[in-house]
Amino acid sequence: MGYSITLSSLHYKSISSGSKGNCSILWDDSDLILIDLGISYRKFRNSVSAKWAEGLRMSLFISHEHSDHCSGVRTFCSRESADVYATRGTGDAMGLPYYAAEREVTIGNFSILPVSVSHDAADPVAFVIRNGSAKVSVVTDLGIVSPTLVSAIRGSDILAVEANHDVEMLKTGPYDAVLKRRILSDVGHLSNEQSADLLSQTSAENSRIVLLHLSENNNTPEVAFNHVESSLVNRGIQYASLECASQETGSSLCELRQ
Ligand SMILES: [Zn+2]
Ligand SMILES: [Zn+2]
Repeated sequence: MGYSITLSSLHYKSISSGSKGNCSILWDDSDLILIDLGISYRKFRNSVSAKWAEGLRMSLFISHEHSDHCSGVRTFCSRESADVYATRGTGDAMGLPYYAAEREVTIGNFSILPVSVSHDAADPVAFVIRNGSAKVSVVTDLGIVSPTLVSAIRGSDILAVEANHDVEMLKTGPYDAVLKRRILSDVGHLSNEQSADLLSQTSAENSRIVLLHLSENNNTPEVAFNHVESSLVNRGIQYASLECASQETGSSLCELRQ
């Protein structure tokens, strides 16, 4: 796949999203920012060809050490020159070389702000990425939402937010009781309902919403989409567009002209 680059534009795409692997990319005319790399090097290169990325500086930000977010980092770093950024807790848990990113990091025209989230990992974060006037938030793997997170992501041009499960599907589904409790806990994952609540507090008329990390067993794209759409419409919340990212093909390509 190739992407056209328009000067002064910011682009976002989820390459893959779900419990089998996560990776989102953002780029402008000089930098390629990766958020998580829980996919194989081959899958990454099938989406982002070396030819297309030639001349772009690559930087990799890891949200937390669970394998669906970082399993591809070691191979990636052995084949590419890219800096890895993570909180100290995440970086130490990964056991790979990294730059500590406890606060906002500036790379070219990008600034990347880590925001702590509640999840059963060492020091998990969401990311708020700014480039010029554009603001993109990538928020997955959290059990509850903090006021700090709400204010950090409010009004984003792209709200890429977890909608992991439908609570009834999870409760009546195939997972064992321990796993169900973990997913439903404060350090688990956001349900469609929690995701809709978060989006209703943070969406604006410019916001393109991308639902991430949908469970294959406890959710469907239709259920997640319909739940979030009806919640937002019923509350009179404005947004520009709404879609679900998939494990196989991620999201559509979003371009923000500056
Ligand atoms: Zn995950
Ligand atoms: Zn996780």
